[in-house]
Amino acid sequence: MTDNFHAGPCPGCRQGRLFLYRNAVTGTVYGHCEECEWGYASPDRLAAKDGFLTLLEEEDAEPASEEDIRRSAWANGRIFVAHE
Ligand SMILES: [Zn+2]
Repeated sequence: MTDNFHAGPCPGCRQGRLFLYRNAVTGTVYGHCEECEWGYASPDRLAAKDGFLTLLEEEDAEPASEEDIRRSAWANGRIFVAHE
């Protein structure tokens, strides 16, 4: 069982949760919707509903660890843990 971190519901589709991934090349942590594949680069971008399509990032992405999140723009946001 792995713990995956997410930032709550996606503002785009309102169906999926925004799981946090780390881009292994750039080190950026972003929220990725499990349903509509849109991503948000930071809580500010999320609040502004300014997303990007994540499909091009996927091969370089891995689930963000607690440490990754603590060092990212998401550190001050609300983070939830999904046990899956
Ligand atoms: Zn979505």
